[in-house]
Parts: sequence; structure tokens; C-alpha cells
Amino acid sequence: MTNAMDEKRVVEAVRTGLFIGGEWRESSTGNRLDVEDPSTGEIIASVADASVADGAAALDAAAKAQLSWAATAPRVRGEILRTAYELIVERADDLALLMTLEMGKPLAESAAEIAYGAEFFRWFAEEAVRISGRFQTSPNGATRLLTMQQPVGPVLMITPWNFPLAMGTRKIGPAIAAGCTMVVKPASQTPLSMLALAEILSEAGLPDGVLNVVTTSSTGAVMEPLIRDPRLRKLTFTGSTPVGRRLVEQSAQGLLRVSMELGGNAPFLVFADADLDRAVDGAMLAKMRNGGEACTAANRFLVHTSLAPEFSARLTARMAALQVGRGADRADVGPLIDAKQRDKVAELVQDAVDGGATVTTGGKATGDRGYFYEPTVLTGVAPSARILREEVFGPVAPIITFDTDDEAITLANDTEFGLAAYAFTKDLTRTLRVSEELEVGMVAINQGIISNPAAPFGGIKASGFGREGGPEGISEYLETKYVGIAP
Ligand code: NAP
Repeated sequence: MTNAMDEKRVVEAVRTGLFIGGEWRESSTGNRLDVEDPSTGEIIASVADASVADGAAALDAAAKAQLSWAATAPRVRGEILRTAYELIVERADDLALLMTLEMGKPLAESAAEIAYGAEFFRWFAEEAVRISGRFQTSPNGATRLLTMQQPVGPVLMITPWNFPLAMGTRKIGPAIAAGCTMVVKPASQTPLSMLALAEILSEAGLPDGVLNVVTTSSTGAVMEPLIRDPRLRKLTFTGSTPVGRRLVEQSAQGLLRVSMELGGNAPFLVFADADLDRAVDGAMLAKMRNGGEACTAANRFLVHTSLAPEFSARLTARMAALQVGRGADRADVGPLIDAKQRDKVAELVQDAVDGGATVTTGGKATGDRGYFYEPTVLTGVAPSARILREEVFGPVAPIITFDTDDEAITLANDTEFGLAAYAFTKDLTRTLRVSEELEVGMVAINQGIISNPAAPFGGIKASGFGREGGPEGISEYLETKYVGIAP
């Protein structure tokens, strides 16, 4: 159990204004936006609620800082990220508690996100000094071809509530490394982690105006003018597919560079030759990381008929053993983010049950306050069930069976989404086949977790485009310029 005084201390330590041009300020209207603890429904803090004018001021600051920031030595940019990485690690316990209070996930999950999120700063600190170009002689020998990479320019970053810190660091890290300035808009439900991060970057020596953070409840009204402003050069968004589609439309006007990390509907395939122990461990990770509120979460468990009874029984036992409760009190599973999300999970389970599915554990909301839902396993789910098409974003594992590899791959690809997929098999030929034929941006073989700061994270189809992390991550923030030089 955490101490109530610690909870109060970490919340009160956060500066809750808008961070614009290196200064903390109130919104021009003086309005505030409440932040709730989803495990109790209580208001724990309030942050400045930016107006359209405040959004414009943030872009002014980013645009003003762009030239000098682009000219800052790569080593200096890298060292700022490295210092910020160290500060995050040093303050990991407080940052984890803060995240748990605003988002609900258990402390261990928050600590894992802090470690994962910090790694993007470490990785991109190392990438900042590896931005390179090329020199060539043209094929006819008449000229010399020089290519260089330059920062894209001011970037707008919009992030979701499910990973309040890491979804920010994997955009901010490469932008800083590449020499881009930015306006960041965290999700209204979880702004505190991002505000704490802004303070850390400021302490690490980030020049004024490079990072600007705007919190607002008038999200569309404040964001759209920025997206349409000709000074903005890139938009990067992590969130739901419908909002992503709208933002792509808005960005067409300015022909912005765009990265979209959108929803998922990951299949989890267990082939007949799978190591069942590893498959069940992997299933728990792929399903229950972040309480199922992850875009990479396994949403459809496709299990070979021969293994299905045992896999279902073992997954049911593991899910039933999880303690549901307040994340700050060290439960295994915290609440969902809000009542709407909890009710959507309940609705999708009810729809599956109406279609003939069996609930082997869980199957209902729980707790006398907050937004809790029991870890749930469903078997015998009909192919028409909504839960197989829509992202559940909660602790529910629907199991369906298959007989052949062809059938498994067809079922896995039968979704508009294409973010992640998991497959358990000991067979190399099958591993290669599923890796090649699954229509996703990322495939995890014999492991239940795919995210890694050193690897390109991202999707295809309705899961979006663009990659975050790995060497690919920084290229999203760089433009290639070619110079022809006559000798
Ligand atoms: P969301 O409603 O799309 O919100 C995401 C962000 O977009 C929030 O900051 C939100 O601000 C903002 N937003 C909402 N409407 C907007 C508008 N009209 N213009 C500009 N910004 C707008 O998604 P969510 O429910 O928070 O997040 C869950 C979704 O994110 C899931 O579908 C999940 O799969 C996806 N996700 C994807 C990845 C990935 O990398 N692929 C990672 C994590 C999550 P407000 O909070 O102020 O509304």
C-alpha cells in the first residue's frame, strides 16, 4: 500500500500550468481541467485548460525556437536526452505513483512504463549523433551528389491516456534528437505525467520553446488551427482510428508529414506444436499488459483445436487468480480509464454471450467505486461477435479455434486493423510463413510482448502508418535534401 501522504506529495509536486516558451502559465481564460483517479472517481488535481489563443502561443514558441534548435550541435541535443533519461530513472518511483493515480494501472505496470518510456530518451540520445548523409559521383561523372538530412520543423504531437509517458517519449525523443521543436498535447484524462516530463526536460537543459505542452478540454477547437497553420510541418498522433482519420484529413491542407499510431485488434495464434507453458505465459502478457488497454493487446486468441481445451483451462485459471483493485494498493489489475470504456467492455462481452459464447471466468463489472471489470475469458465465440472485430481495450480474452494454418492466417487477417500479431510455434517454416503472411506491422514469435525502443513500432491498414523507435524512429523527423555540385 502506498502512503496517502506520498500520493498527495507526488500530485502536488506537478506544475499544472501550460508550458509555453520555457515558462509555466495559466490559460488565457483562467479555466482549469479536472483530473480524476479512475480507481475512485475522485478528482486528484486540475490543470490549465488551454484556449485557442494558448494553442497558438505554443506554436509561436515552437516556430520561434526552430532555427536555433536545428543549429544546435547533435551532441548537445543527445546529452540533454541522456540527462533527462537519468532524471526519469532517478525519479522513477514518484513518476510511477503519479501515473498510477491518474491512469489507474498497478504500480508495477507504471514502473515498467517509466522504464520503457525512459529508454526512448536513451536510445535517441545515441541516435542524435548518427544522423548522416551521402556523397556520390553521378553515374556519368558530370556532377557530385550530396544528400543531407535536416529536421522536418515544428511538430504537433497528440498522445493518448493509456501510456501517458511512453507515448510522449517515443515522439519527443526522436524529435529532440533530430532538431525539431514541438507542441505536445497529452490526453485530457492523464496530463500529469507529461507535465512532470516537461519539467524534467527543462531541468535537463532543453532550451525554451523547443518543447511546449498544452492541456485542454477543447481539444478539436485548439488543435485544428495548429494543424492548419503553415508553420507546422509535421503531425504525429497516437490514439483511436476515427480521430486519426479526421486528423489526416485536416493535415491534407498543409501537406504535413504525418505519423499515425492507431488502434489494433491483435490476433494471438497458438499452433498445434506450440509450447503450451510459453503460450499461456505469453497470453497473460499480451492480454493483460496495461489491463488490456494497449493497442498491441491480444484481442483474438486463435488456438489449434487439439490444444484449445487445455489452453482455455489454463488461461482461465491464471485470469481468475488476478487481484482486481486500486493500482496504488498493488493490485494485479487496475480499473479501466472511465465508465464509458468499462461499459463498452461489458457491452462487447454481452454481445458475445448473446451469440452463444461461454464465460469461463469473470464477465462483469466489479467494485463499489471506480471503473473495474473482471479479467474475463470467453470460449465458443461466434465468428460474427463484435468482440472479434472491435478493439475491446479491456481484460477480456475471447478464444476461437482453428484446424489448419491457412484457416488461422485467414482468421488473423480478417480485420481492418494491422498493428501487432503473436504466434506460438516451434517450427521455423511455419514461423517464416506466418511472419510473411500476417498483415501487420509487428509480429511476436513465442513472446507476449513486442514493444522495444530499439525496434520500429507501428502498423499498417487501419492501424496507421509511420514507425516509432529504432533507427526508423528518427527518420520520421528528418527530411532528405539533395545538393548537386558541379566539380
Ligand atoms: P482518442 O480519443 O483518439 O484520443 C487520443 C488523443 O487524441 C487524446 O489526446 C485526445 O484528446 C486527442 N483527440 C481527441 N479528439 C481529437 C480531435 N478532434 N482533434 C485532435 N485531437 C483529438 O483515443 P484514446 O481513447 O485516448 O486512446 C485509445 C486509442 O489509442 C485506442 O484505439 C488505441 O488502440 C490507440 N493507441 C494506439 C497506439 C499505437 O501506437 N498504435 C498506442 C496507444 C493507443 P482528449 O483526451 O482531450 O480527448
